[in-house]
Amino acid sequence: MIARVKAATVLGIEGFLVDVEVDLSRGLPGFDIVGLPDVVVRESRQRVRAALKNSGFSFPLQRLTVNLAPGDLRKMGSAFDLAIALGILVACGVLEPEHIDGILALGELSLDGTLRGVPGVLPMIRAAERDGVSRILVPVENEEAAGLITGVKIGIVSHLRDAVAVLEGRKEFVHPKPVHFDLEQKADTDLSEVRGQHAAKRALEIAAAGRHNLLLLGPPGCGKTLLARCLPGILPPLSQDEALEVAEIYSVATGQAQLRLSLNRPFRSPHHSSTIAGMIGGGAQPLPGEVTLAHQGVLFLDEATEFPRSVLDVLRQPLEDGVISLVRHGYSIAYPSSCQLVLAANPCPCGFLGSKVKECVCSGRELSSYRRRLSGPLLDRVELQVWMGALEASDYATFGEPSHVVRKRVRGAWRQNSAAVSKTEQTISKNAIAVLEAAIERFQLSARAVSRIRRVAWTIARLDGRDSTQAAHMAEALTYRLAL
Ligand SMILES: [Zn+2]
Repeated sequence: MIARVKAATVLGIEGFLVDVEVDLSRGLPGFDIVGLPDVVVRESRQRVRAALKNSGFSFPLQRLTVNLAPGDLRKMGSAFDLAIALGILVACGVLEPEHIDGILALGELSLDGTLRGVPGVLPMIRAAERDGVSRILVPVENEEAAGLITGVKIGIVSHLRDAVAVLEGRKEFVHPKPVHFDLEQKADTDLSEVRGQHAAKRALEIAAAGRHNLLLLGPPGCGKTLLARCLPGILPPLSQDEALEVAEIYSVATGQAQLRLSLNRPFRSPHHSSTIAGMIGGGAQPLPGEVTLAHQGVLFLDEATEFPRSVLDVLRQPLEDGVISLVRHGYSIAYPSSCQLVLAANPCPCGFLGSKVKECVCSGRELSSYRRRLSGPLLDRVELQVWMGALEASDYATFGEPSHVVRKRVRGAWRQNSAAVSKTEQTISKNAIAVLEAAIERFQLSARAVSRIRRVAWTIARLDGRDSTQAAHMAEALTYRLAL
C-alpha cells in the first residue's frame, strides 16, 4: 500500500507543498528516495532509519520507495524527515492512514528521534495555509515562526514518538504560543546623537523621504557610520504585510535562529570582505544574500572603496529591479531586494583630503585611481551625494532633532507621493525648468543624471509640502552631486 503525507520545501523565499508517497513492496531490502531530492534530502534515509529504530519502532525489512511529488520541483533541505518517517509507519501498519490524512509534517530527525527545527518554516506554513491544509506538525524549535500564523491548526512536537502520539490522539495537540510583531519603533542610533553635519542630515532626510540611495564622503571620524545607522529610525515602519515578508526572508536565511519580528526596517552592514554570493545570495544550498536581508530596509556599505569592484557591480541590477534572479541546479530562484543603498567612503586613500586638521598626502595618481573605484555604474544609481567635513569645536555643542520628529516629516512626504501616483508626470514650475536647463548646459549633465536630479527635486518639494517642483527645490537637488 502507498502512504501519503505532506511536506514542504522552499525555493527562493517561497514555500511549496510536496507530497511524500511511501511504498513498501516485496524484494530485497532497500530504501530509495526519488523525485529530485538534493544531497541533504537523500541523507534523510540514514536519519529516518536510525530515528525509527531508536524511537522503538521496527524498520521494515522490505523494499522501501519514497517518492516526492511533484517530480519536477527541486526538493532541498532536511524538512522531509518527519513526513518520510510517518509515511513509513503508515506503510508498515503502525499508524492508520486516516491518522495522517491532510497532515503536513515538517522537521529534521536526529538519530535518537528528537525533532530539530528547519529553515524556511514560515513560508512553508504560509503555503500550507493558502493550500487549505488542515493540520501541521512543527518542531518545537520553530515554534516562534508557527506562532505568527493563525489561519491553520498547528501542533508543536519535540520527538518522533510525540508526533505519533499526537496523530493517534493519545496526546493533546499543543498549539504554538501566539507571536506578534513588536510595534515599538526603535533604532540603534537616534539622530539627536549626531553632532553638527547639518547638510548631511538634511540629505539623509531627503534620502528617507524619496527612498533614494546616498553616498556620504568625508574624513575618518566625521560621523558617516553614525549618520547612516540613523536612517532606519527616520523611515516609516513596515506594514504588517511587509513585516511578514521580511520575517519570511529571515526564516529562510537563519532557520531556527531568531526570527525577525520587528516593524523596524532592516539595516544590514556587510563587511568589505563579503563575496558575491554573500551579497546577492546563492551557494550550493542557496541562501538569500545581504541585499535580500536588507529588503524593505537599508543596505549600508561602510568604506565602500574597500569592496571589490566585482562585488559592487553585481549590486546594480538587484537595486534597480528590486529582485534578484539566480539559476541554481537548472532552477531559477528569485529573491526580493528592494532596499536603499547607503555608501560611506573617505575622500581619498589617506582620508584627509579637504581637511583643515591634517594634510592629505595622496598623489594625483593615487587620487584618481581611488575615485575610479567609486565611480561607475553603481554610483550612477546613487541620487544623493554629500560631503561631510571634519567636526568643528562648535559642532560638539549642537545636537540635532530627534529621529521621531524627522520621521513625521518623512511620513508626510511618503503619503503625498502615494497620493500623487495617479499623475503621469509631477508638475514642475517654469522657473525650476530654467534652473535645470542652466545646469545641464553648465555641467554637461547626462539624461540619466537629469532624471535623477528631477526625482530628488520632487522629493524635496514633497518634504516642503508642495505638489509641484519649484526653482528652490531644483537648486537644492543640484547640490547633491559631487564631481567624482
Ligand atoms: Zn589623501
